[in-house]
Amino acid sequence: MPDKPDCIFCQIIAGQVAGHIVDEDDDTVTFMDAFPAAPGHTLIVTRQHYCDLLEAEPAAIAAVATKSVIVARAIKSVVHAQGLGVFQLNGAAAGQTVLHYHVHLIPRNRGEALQIHSRVAGDQRALAQLAARLKQQME
Ligand SMILES: [Zn+2]
Repeated sequence: MPDKPDCIFCQIIAGQVAGHIVDEDDDTVTFMDAFPAAPGHTLIVTRQHYCDLLEAEPAAIAAVATKSVIVARAIKSVVHAQGLGVFQLNGAAAGQTVLHYHVHLIPRNRGEALQIHSRVAGDQRALAQLAARLKQQME
């Protein structure tokens, strides 16, 4: 049963909607962004539904931050981009599109325009392969 039934991230966490899951623990779930701004674009979300930073428990935010270290290193090993952006948006006015606390990890290269959300859905096979490689790297 999803924590918040009409939330797409809660539906992915509950397994009601297919997602390319990379990692799960008691406090966080990590999966590929379905609309990647770059290959390897990964999201880390709180397992429990919080709209944003302003309503989340500090311990849940800390769990996401700790996980981001491990996921960032896996992305670096698998994707080989020059840099990695970590982005976290709060509220529609700030550009948050799914109102469930999440952090974007986006591989970046010199000269690329800053983009956090893409309008184009990622190739399902490519997303599945990246998720599998990241998962393997984190073991
Ligand atoms: Zn949710």
